Amino acid sequence: MTDNIFNCELPDESGYFGEYGGSFIPPELQEIMNEVTKAYEDIREDSEFREELAELYKHYVGRPSPIFHAKNLSKKYGAPLYLKREDLNHTGAHKINHCLGEALLAKKMGKKRLIAETGAGQHGVALATAAALVGLECDIHMGEVDIAKEYPNVVRMKILGANVVPVTHGRKTLKEAVDSAFGAYLADPHTQLFGIGSVVGPHPYPRMVRDFQSIVGAEAKEQFLEMTGKLPDNLVACVGGGSNAMGLFTAFLKDENVAMHGVEPAGRDINVLGEHAASITHGKPGVMHGFKSYMLQDENGEPAPVYSVASGLDYPSVGPQHSYLKDLGRVNYAYINDKEAIDAFFELSRLEGIIPAIESSHALAYACKLAKDNNSGTILINLSGRGDKDIDFVVENYGSNYGI
Ligand SMILES: *Cc1c(COP(=O)(O)O)cnc(C)c1O
Repeated sequence: MTDNIFNCELPDESGYFGEYGGSFIPPELQEIMNEVTKAYEDIREDSEFREELAELYKHYVGRPSPIFHAKNLSKKYGAPLYLKREDLNHTGAHKINHCLGEALLAKKMGKKRLIAETGAGQHGVALATAAALVGLECDIHMGEVDIAKEYPNVVRMKILGANVVPVTHGRKTLKEAVDSAFGAYLADPHTQLFGIGSVVGPHPYPRMVRDFQSIVGAEAKEQFLEMTGKLPDNLVACVGGGSNAMGLFTAFLKDENVAMHGVEPAGRDINVLGEHAASITHGKPGVMHGFKSYMLQDENGEPAPVYSVASGLDYPSVGPQHSYLKDLGRVNYAYINDKEAIDAFFELSRLEGIIPAIESSHALAYACKLAKDNNSGTILINLSGRGDKDIDFVVENYGSNYGI
């Protein structure tokens, strides 16, 4: 299974998917990225690396994750709905798939430490987990505001042996954490590897993270055929940076009869900049964080402030391959607001006994709309993570609407 996740055609040698992607970084960082690209290209051909990753996917993460036919939900909405259960992975989401890949790469490159930023802490926890397993140090840069807000994840990272570096300047949130982590990386690129958390950033990260995540779709294709005798008519995944969506979509890109839907967060108000994070449906092409893609920009062309009830989705840009697939018309990009996502969160919990992550609830809500509106056929949803991390927030803010 891990064999066929490493042979995707795009991007080109400079990291472009059509006009998107590439590498917009200072020359000293470009030199380092060239080394990472070279190391990754060698390693992806290396059978020892592939076997090691395959073993970890199987015995550590618990792959393959099952596909579950959600019959109660299907009955209510009138189309067969299936869930790819990434929520059952060790650490509770899809992020561990690429964090293990990045940790193994760092080890093979002889690095001592993984370094990254985190917003809500999900990526930090997954990377700290992979670092602990592989035997690397791990520095996670996190804004002081986020440290206070996401305390359980901060504690998890510390228990796992990671060093949480508080970022005290500016708004003390994700953007400053990115700057701080990049600064620390540039100060010592030879002993560290940057572990980016999605299919974003300069080349080779959009491709590398996609390759590691594409195990999701490779498994799903085989499993769905075995369960139903056919390919799914629709795939649905939420899109923050876009890694779980690319993970599911990649194996099906050439199957023309499989429709694909990427679901962005419409937040509180899709018509007001700053109140949503729908970068691909409401942004325009620009450059940030070292790559070109659709992004939400303010009047000066700077990244706009974004918001979503799902902290894993509030990113003002999106992986460059998504921008390419949007322009091609291969993927339909849509959006779901906070309220619809929270409704879906409770609905899956109460109809199927599965508490989903609020991020994944965006995909669920859209899939239910699709099932209801059209003669849509079968729908396979990427359930990217479990909702344990969200329960306190949901009960505090929405519980009374749902009888709690
Ligand atoms: C981080 C996260 C996402 C969003 O990231 P993508 O790169 O768009 O997949 C979605 N779901 C869960 C559960 C997450 O933790």
